[in-house]
Amino acid sequence: MVHILRIVNNVHKSFVRNKTPSKSCMSRKYTSQSSSLPIEIRRIRNFSIVAHVDHGKSTLADRFLELTGAIKPGKENAQVLDQLQVEKERGITVKAVTASLNYTYENESYLLNLIDTPGHVDFSNEVVRSVTACQGVIFLVDANEGIQAQTVAVHSLAKKNNLTIIPTLNKVDLPRANPEKVKAQLKSVFKINSDAVLSISAKKGWGVQELLEAIITRIPPPNVTLNDHFRAHIIDTWHDKYRGVLCLAYIHSGTLKMGQTVKWRSDVKQHTVKYLALLRPSEENISEAIAGQVVMVGLGPKGGGSVGDMLYALEADHNQEPSSVTAVKHMVYAGIFPADQSQHPQLSDSIKKLALNDSAVSISVDSSPALGQGWRVGFLGLLHLDVFTQRLLQEYKAEAILTAPSVPYKVKVKGAKVIKQYRGEEVIVTNPLQLPDVKNIAEYYEPFVIGTIITPVEYLGAVNTLCIDRRGSPLPSSSVDDTMTMLQYILPLSEVVMDFHDTLKSITSGFASFDYQDYGFHPSPLVRMDILINGVLVDELSSIVHSSRLEYNARKLTSKLKEMIPRQMVQVAIQAVVGGKVLSRETLKAYRKDVTAKLYGGDVTRRKKLLKQQSEGKKKMRSVANIKIPRNTFIDVLKK
Ligand code: GDP
Ligand code: MG
Repeated sequence: MVHILRIVNNVHKSFVRNKTPSKSCMSRKYTSQSSSLPIEIRRIRNFSIVAHVDHGKSTLADRFLELTGAIKPGKENAQVLDQLQVEKERGITVKAVTASLNYTYENESYLLNLIDTPGHVDFSNEVVRSVTACQGVIFLVDANEGIQAQTVAVHSLAKKNNLTIIPTLNKVDLPRANPEKVKAQLKSVFKINSDAVLSISAKKGWGVQELLEAIITRIPPPNVTLNDHFRAHIIDTWHDKYRGVLCLAYIHSGTLKMGQTVKWRSDVKQHTVKYLALLRPSEENISEAIAGQVVMVGLGPKGGGSVGDMLYALEADHNQEPSSVTAVKHMVYAGIFPADQSQHPQLSDSIKKLALNDSAVSISVDSSPALGQGWRVGFLGLLHLDVFTQRLLQEYKAEAILTAPSVPYKVKVKGAKVIKQYRGEEVIVTNPLQLPDVKNIAEYYEPFVIGTIITPVEYLGAVNTLCIDRRGSPLPSSSVDDTMTMLQYILPLSEVVMDFHDTLKSITSGFASFDYQDYGFHPSPLVRMDILINGVLVDELSSIVHSSRLEYNARKLTSKLKEMIPRQMVQVAIQAVVGGKVLSRETLKAYRKDVTAKLYGGDVTRRKKLLKQQSEGKKKMRSVANIKIPRNTFIDVLKK
């Protein structure tokens, strides 16, 4: 529940994509010999690779890049699309990145736009954004591991978006790979015909060319119109020091030229297209792009651009356009504060820039008596939070303190019209301190998710116990094959975000996989628990707790505080309270100075006098009662 991370400043490596393109790739203009337009729509394919984490998306992307001549084969180019330092260090993909590839098939040249997607649950909104520009997906499944929880999630995403699915088994080179078994799983879980399934080894390059050709033959070209005004939607943005916001745009209709005047849906100002490039994946400047293409567009430092916005030709009517991007749902919130208040402006700037590249975060201003001015930031999950702060440090050299992550709660306020502060009837609470007065709350709600777990049958008992222990209610389960089962549970998000995944992995020796989908807010018996130190409320330590967890959390937190607060000259009482009732109390004994130490011999009256003075002095301090916990101790207390 409460923890804090201190991020120390260390080595900084610049973000590759922020670099200006090299001369060689700027000079290579992308034009086709056959027509004045860059390419015909029927020769464009927009696709993505979707899979459970580690099933080989990035490795396959590397092979595609090599096969189409975008990069030279070799070790130093491994996982080219994972450009962020975080991605390289952790071996995970965080950002969806596009690569436009040229490929000649039956004497015709095709433009294949590959959008690499992140695999972790926290980044599913990156996947969702990527597929809005795609007509098909390579649905990659590890031939050794078989169907995993996220395999199920990405399959339903592709189905929901009506995308052509190319089922592909990867890692068939592994001695333990069992393609026949996994094909049977695909058939039983997704009704995929085994004849449609391709087998590859992304590592060895086996079958990759056939797969590239299946993209051309199986996935349809984008369904867009050329003879209309230019319209595009923004699927990604990032910040460049010199050129301002750069956008990744999917063009729905018309053509876009360098120097063209355009406008945003969100504002009436006119802008000029200053940068137009294909990402291969390094930038290659072009003079024109057409409907169906995915291109990088920049309108200069004042041009703006944000994910989900639409960009239009001046003549286009933009009134009825619905946004193609669904709102993201924040699963955890945490406070971010500058390590030192003097660094506030710099941190503010860094957060704003990073938020441009990571459209999934939500940011609002926050302040804390102990930590000063800062922000309350919403994340998609704990890994997202971790990655955001790591990027803040590595890409922007910003040192920050991160407070206690918590999930958002919702309350229905009694007589909301009377309480001016709460305009609506229902209030989302992202910080326990915002909770309205208990007597004004009619109902509490907590966020729930539907969790999907795929586990070997021998761990069923342990997994069920874990889910029940985390207040889960089971949904019907189904079998994947005779060794694997798919379980579904409705689980409180607060029980999932903290360490559910790690615990699941450890009780199943790493064999179970987990994914979750939002299941909305539902009524729940919640209470706000406060911490008093010598009777004084410590804002940062308040939390919203399920009533069944109250006693346990109260005892845990008070004993932890007792361990970590340094002993003081006066006795310190640490109490966990709910609505004035003390649930748990710990006492930190006063550090007693031996005031009689310098006395020699047995002058009893002198000794008594000194001890009396000492106890009077202490009384005075205790009556002031305001224990000052040093700021650093405070941070330590919140850390673990
Ligand atoms: P991603 O998380 O889906 O992007 O997966 P990666 O591409 O990062 O691959 C995860 C791990 O699987 C890496 O260690 C790869 O080297 C390995 N891998 C990927 N494809 C193959 C393959 O075809 N055969 C074998 N033996 N290993 C592979
Ligand atoms: Mg990857």
